[in-house]
Amino acid sequence: MPDIAVRIVLCEPTHPGNIGASARAMKTMGLSELVLVAPKLFPSADATARASGADDVLESAQIVATLAEAIDDCAYVVGASARLRSLDWPTMTPRVCAAELVARSRTDKVAIVFGPEHSGLDNEALARCQTLVNIPANPAYSSLNLAMAVQVLCYELRVAGIEPGDDDARLIEQRDAPLATSAELEGFHAHLEAVMLRSGFLNPDHPKLLKRRLRRLFNRACLDQTEVNILRGLLAAVERSVPEPSQDR
Ligand code: SAH
Repeated sequence: MPDIAVRIVLCEPTHPGNIGASARAMKTMGLSELVLVAPKLFPSADATARASGADDVLESAQIVATLAEAIDDCAYVVGASARLRSLDWPTMTPRVCAAELVARSRTDKVAIVFGPEHSGLDNEALARCQTLVNIPANPAYSSLNLAMAVQVLCYELRVAGIEPGDDDARLIEQRDAPLATSAELEGFHAHLEAVMLRSGFLNPDHPKLLKRRLRRLFNRACLDQTEVNILRGLLAAVERSVPEPSQDR
């Protein structure tokens, strides 16, 4: 079975032991691409000890300063979340998520993003995820250790890789343009926000809920690069037709 080409991104992990244990979890399941966003302490003897033979995954881990650098080139990003969120963000089970990621990984770069041990993913990170995956743990005690959550999801990816489901056919549909990358989607959302503000549609004092709802809508559509270009063209045309807002508003 070939390697599973799903990137594992750990956001600001605080315990180096968890980084090592995540590398080990990945290697046992045939994953190798680890990206660390601003780890508190790395490299570290603790990480190497807990990797226990998965040193190659650890040594090839990429270290970046921001989540954007970790996922900008990805067309599909899933956030692992221990909590179910207030605004109903699409959330998958590990099994469904793994099948989708494995299928998409055949044509696009894909990633799962994990949050820091104490706080989980913050709202800014969540906004960069097209969907969430939740391990259906004990509702009264649902937060797994970071590396254990990595293990469960890597296991599901492996099973999905061994037994590709019928979903593959649906997901690898013929496209006439590649899916938009995470960076291209961010560019679109920034442009959309600017136009919504300029036109007076978005109240700058209460932007959050509307912006999240719009992200959810466009994530459902799985935009490709041509579609993003069309929308950007439309926004540019609207921008030209709406006068600059006056400063004394
Ligand atoms: N205290 C944090 C949990 C942090 S655990 C919170 O309440 O959100 C560290 C990371 O492990 C989480 O950010 C998530 O990425 C992953 N994780 C832990 N439990 C999980 C679960 N049940 N489902 C999915 N991911 C989980």
